[in-house]
Amino acid sequence: MKHLIILGDGMADHPVERLGGKTLLQYASTPAMDQLAREGRCGILTTIPEGFEPGSEVANTAILGYDLSQVYEGRGPLEAASIGYEMEPDDLALRCNLITLEDRKILNHHGGHLGTEDGHVLIHQLQEELGSDVVKFLPGIQYRHLLIIKGGSKYIECTAPHDHPGEPWRERLVKPIEGMEDFHEDQRMTPRETADLLNYLIERSHTILENYPLNLSRKAHGKPMANSIWPWGGGYRPHMLTLEDQYPQVKSGAVISAVDLIRGIGHYAGLDIIKVPGATGLYNTNYDGKCRAAIEALKKTDFVFLHIEASDEAGHDGDLDLKLRTIESLDQHIVEPILWEVARWDEPVCVALLPDHPTPVELRTHVAEPVPFAFWYKGMEPDSVQTFDEEACAKGAYGHLYLSQFMYEFMKY
Ligand SMILES: [Zn+2]
Repeated sequence: MKHLIILGDGMADHPVERLGGKTLLQYASTPAMDQLAREGRCGILTTIPEGFEPGSEVANTAILGYDLSQVYEGRGPLEAASIGYEMEPDDLALRCNLITLEDRKILNHHGGHLGTEDGHVLIHQLQEELGSDVVKFLPGIQYRHLLIIKGGSKYIECTAPHDHPGEPWRERLVKPIEGMEDFHEDQRMTPRETADLLNYLIERSHTILENYPLNLSRKAHGKPMANSIWPWGGGYRPHMLTLEDQYPQVKSGAVISAVDLIRGIGHYAGLDIIKVPGATGLYNTNYDGKCRAAIEALKKTDFVFLHIEASDEAGHDGDLDLKLRTIESLDQHIVEPILWEVARWDEPVCVALLPDHPTPVELRTHVAEPVPFAFWYKGMEPDSVQTFDEEACAKGAYGHLYLSQFMYEFMKY
């Protein structure tokens, strides 16, 4: 049996008055998802462990069966994997935003929606002026880059810049975790030394970038300058067993996602990262290309994780109509052709369909509530669930599963 997970990021929702008290999954026209639920077995799943924020990286790691308290190292190491940087055992990897500082405050977390090309120019300049055996700047996408500190300590407090727009930036500089200032790990600097180095790099980057021609030209055109780095989300190389190591039926696998964090999780899980041209993570993403890529990957491997970001973005925008459209697109352009295709194969494929967390349009942010899921393969003995939605799946054969129970049950097929 081969295995395919189709994950619609943030697709679950709350009942909405404008939709007659229905959730979006209940309201949208989703014949293929409903077929999958009707012919398969369903349940609901808690994806966020106690004590964790409902982030996509947390939920997706849990869905793949990992214990977050053992493997979660923050965004930096995921970023590293997604851009193809193999972390060394003594590396500290941090997400390195290019942001705008103005009037002593954090104006934004994205440098005025910096493009990838401009981002690369600035990161290369920083590497040239500040790079060393210890400090390495690596280019990523748009405003999202990577900073490696060789021998850096992860026991520091950094600020996620998107959570603190408008706040004085000097008050948000890096600090060692209280009580651990001089904590000693083999081959590593102390948290205090790490924080001092990072703060030095922030100050120096601000001076360099503020006077860099590309930024002067942005300023002249009335655009915000990407005039400082902002490192956060630091961690070490995760100790994750690959899926191959854990499940004998998985000899190889692949991840398909437009989102760097998801690609990073896939990399540490031992999956090949497949990049699909035109996959944007937005409503106009290349659904057909991703669907074809998933089918092709499934022919060659045993396990495919297909992640579609669009409904989460629509949820964050609070755009009800757009989110409905992303759900219907997923149904029509992904679920339907995949069911049609794999039903004709000799080798059976078990398909799982689920969101990672709800991103309710009326809240515009993630919540840590259980999500509906369905397992399906051709000829499966179904339960009584007739439609794929939050309410119906709760009455499914699996009831309420938690975290790694999902993968455990899925891989029994
Ligand atoms: Zn998500």
